[in-house]
Amino acid sequence: MIEGLFERPAGLGLLTGEHDALRRTVRAFVAREIAPNIAAWEEARRLPRALYRKAAQIGLQGLIFPEELGGSGGDFLMQIVASEEIARAGAGGVCASLGSYMIGLPPIVKLGSPEILEAYARPIIAGAKISALAVTEPGGGSDVAALRIAARREGDHYVVNGEKTFITSGMQADVFTVAVRTDPASKGARGISFLVVDGDAPGLERTELDKMGWHASDTAHLTFRDVRVPAGNLLGCEHEGFSAVMLNFNDERLTIAAQAIGQAEACFTEALSWARERETFGRKLIDNQVIRHRLVDMAMRIDAARTLLYDVVERRMAERDALPVHVARTAMAKITATDALFAVANAAVQILGGMGYMRGTVSERVFRETKVLSIGGGGDEILKDLAARQMGF
Ligand SMILES: Cc1cc2nc3c(=O)[nH]c(=O)nc-3n(C[C@H](O)[C@H](O)[C@H](O)COP(=O)(O)OP(=O)(O)OC[C@H]3O[C@@H](n4cnc5c(N)ncnc54)[C@H](O)[C@@H]3O)c2cc1C
Repeated sequence: MIEGLFERPAGLGLLTGEHDALRRTVRAFVAREIAPNIAAWEEARRLPRALYRKAAQIGLQGLIFPEELGGSGGDFLMQIVASEEIARAGAGGVCASLGSYMIGLPPIVKLGSPEILEAYARPIIAGAKISALAVTEPGGGSDVAALRIAARREGDHYVVNGEKTFITSGMQADVFTVAVRTDPASKGARGISFLVVDGDAPGLERTELDKMGWHASDTAHLTFRDVRVPAGNLLGCEHEGFSAVMLNFNDERLTIAAQAIGQAEACFTEALSWARERETFGRKLIDNQVIRHRLVDMAMRIDAARTLLYDVVERRMAERDALPVHVARTAMAKITATDALFAVANAAVQILGGMGYMRGTVSERVFRETKVLSIGGGGDEILKDLAARQMGF
């Protein structure tokens, strides 16, 4: 591959030498700690706890969180760069579970009391606790305002009853950031709150879910039966958590886009090297124009998706856009990236032929992991509806 094809060097946009240094650090971490172990973790259907501590040693979980909590107070581009690099290992399950703090932790840091920050945020950033976000319920995930799990106030506690499902890191998590309905009389967005729930709280049961891909990630169905949660574990104002839930989705969508682009790049790299090696009809695959065109199509999609993603992220950081514009373009950047991944993984499997259907190739794994990114964090249909509304039609 030509040098720098997909690189975004320091000096371009808001990228600095610090982002470059982080990219190199994460790349080395992936080569040393992740790539050699993916097959074993997929077999185990989860990541080892030690990985979270090792990741914390390079500062991964604290990149964008305050230094007072053990983080490094970096900008959002840091998270994008790190997400892309981890995804380039070509294992979405690693991105999902190692990265579940990216969706579980921000509401805690934004809205938690000093006690909550000490008890939960600090150990998550230190890699000592695993964080998960629990919003989706068996009755539906897209219509967040319809969530039903009940948190009834009883003295100094909330008593939680109900279910959550498809929760990433749900089997291993020590800390759940849970969207609940605190006002039983309310319907829709009003009456929703965020609670921090300990993983070992009595009455919380977990059931492991099996799935098409992301095998290195544990996914759980959660049942809450009279789970008592201290009232101090409320994040922000009671009944007013809905906007926090929705705002959390925006950054999640941008990191999903970064993951999709990193994984697409892994497929492209594998397909290119296969096309250069494989011979059919007495010549290399790459000597066929149709294969070269397919590879260019793949590169075009990756490049376009990444360019849009960085533009949205940099305009967010520079506060250039009004919120509706940012929300609409975030939705579009996610769909552009996940569509690119779907097309690129499909093309890569085609170039690898039978080998692309065999366990052990990156393209086979990523091909099974494409769909989830078009569903999680807001399905394509939901995001297009959202973008249309934000753009005023
Ligand atoms: C592997 C995995 C990990 C996940 N991790 C988490 C997690 O950590 N935490 C968490 O809270 N959730 C998690 N989710 C849940 C995910 O966010 C939801 O699956 C997603 O929001 C969609 O909800 P749903 O599955 O209930 O689909 P539904 O809401 O039932 O929708 C079904 C389909 O119809 C589409 N649709 C829905 N309404 C409309 C409409 N009005 N018009 C047109 N189309 C529509 C949707 O886009 C979707 O494609 C995870 C899911 C998966 C698969």
